[in-house]
Amino acid sequence: AHRFTEEIIELTEKYGARNYHPLPVVISKAEGVWVEDPEGNKYLDMLSAYSAVNQGHRHPKIVRALKEQADRVTLTSRAFHNDQLGPWYEKVARLTKKEMVLPMNTGAEAVETAVKAARRWAYDVKGVEENKAEIIACEGNFHGRTMLAVSLSSEPEYQRGFGPLLPGIKLVPYGDLEALKEAITENTAAFLVEPIQGEAGIHIPPDGYLRKAYEICKENKVLFLADEIQSGLGRSGKMFACDWEGVVPDVYILGKALGGGVFPISCVAADRDILGVFNPGSHGSTFGGNPLACAVSIAALDVIVEEDLPRRSLELGGYFLEKLRTIDHPDIKEVRGRGLFIGIELHTPARKYCEALKAKGLLCKETHENVIRLAPPLVIKKEELDWAFERIQAVFAEM
Ligand code: PLP
Repeated sequence: AHRFTEEIIELTEKYGARNYHPLPVVISKAEGVWVEDPEGNKYLDMLSAYSAVNQGHRHPKIVRALKEQADRVTLTSRAFHNDQLGPWYEKVARLTKKEMVLPMNTGAEAVETAVKAARRWAYDVKGVEENKAEIIACEGNFHGRTMLAVSLSSEPEYQRGFGPLLPGIKLVPYGDLEALKEAITENTAAFLVEPIQGEAGIHIPPDGYLRKAYEICKENKVLFLADEIQSGLGRSGKMFACDWEGVVPDVYILGKALGGGVFPISCVAADRDILGVFNPGSHGSTFGGNPLACAVSIAALDVIVEEDLPRRSLELGGYFLEKLRTIDHPDIKEVRGRGLFIGIELHTPARKYCEALKAKGLLCKETHENVIRLAPPLVIKKEELDWAFERIQAVFAEM
């Protein structure tokens, strides 16, 4: 039976754990940058599932790869080889210019994997005393919701009631090189950083920060782990946000758009001296590297390259950012962004703006209370950005 918005939301709220606070809109269909509710209302998606749909909803090439692979084999586990994993490894290794790749499913699992690799590297390669390894992360970070990820967090609400947390973690202010230097000890395994902090509200570090932080890591034999799960794969106007400062991190952590918004897949890419610390039995995942995910991901990466999505993001993002900056309103504190990874920081809660934008056919979501995040699929057209701008301008005019 065809269900309608109100009924679906009621059912969802009746049985679902309340760990999200979605806008009251039900999406039952999507194509490219447009989504549709059961009543047939259309909305422009300016969130892209937190940047997992950089390629646009249901990209035909990616959906074709999914269907063709679904007709062959979907899951083998890693107890056996599958014919999609090798070609996918090669594609990711070439893209990241790294020697080795380790597949997982979600972003948080890839972060877990990178930190496990860094800890073992600290003991086996750097010579840190057993169980003393330290990870330095940044205040305001978001690395997921597992126990490691919440232990890394500086948000009390992400941690409340979930202790005891993981030891061996130090936090430094994002953008503060002196603090990073001071936090490093002989036991430091790695510095884990988002080259642009997404969930924190699209925070771009000061110019030169990534490069200098990388140099500090090199001087101290500390691994530089870049969480590019949200900022990578074209979102920021470059293939990786680290490219803005010509930094090649020791470890790339990728997820989200790696599966084109079609199937979950994440990974860690690094050279053999780092990922080589894993031996059979030390790490794994039943679904990690499954042929369905790999086939989808190969197509998802091809789309990013073939459609030049990083350059689209750069050009259209610059265009859109400039337009947004012409909006003059006392609620606006700052408009910032790189590529189509844009935040409008307000002096007031952003939720009511997102609700007003929804009423005008534009979907976005507040992040960190006061920031409207604008991150549409990178296949968006200029005219569609103009359409979005008119609505955003109109909402500010009414507020
Ligand atoms: N790291 C970053 C930078 C993210 O933005 C996210 C998700 O928003 C994650 C990790 C966690 O990814 P997942 O939700 O797939 O576990």
